[in-house]
Amino acid sequence: MVVNYMESLVDHLLPSLIDENKHILDCQKCQDDVKAIALNNLKPVYVVTDKGTLYAKAKEFNPQFQVDVQQEIIKAVDKVMKYPQHDQ
Ligand SMILES: [Zn+2]
Repeated sequence: MVVNYMESLVDHLLPSLIDENKHILDCQKCQDDVKAIALNNLKPVYVVTDKGTLYAKAKEFNPQFQVDVQQEIIKAVDKVMKYPQHDQ
């Protein structure tokens, strides 16, 4: 099975980056929109083996990598808050 490690990283970081945007926290649709926008702007990291997972984990601890991913999520949150893709 091939998984996009970036997707699980975004899932992991998302809750801590949206605590001030209560609506997104409560709204699955907006959370999905944030995730989709962020993932479209981030390079996928596909992992297959345990070895691949270890590599990706090591990358996660690279501070610049973390900052880049967080910035894309924050940008995506801003975008969704400005233009929610559904009726309130
Ligand atoms: Zn919403």
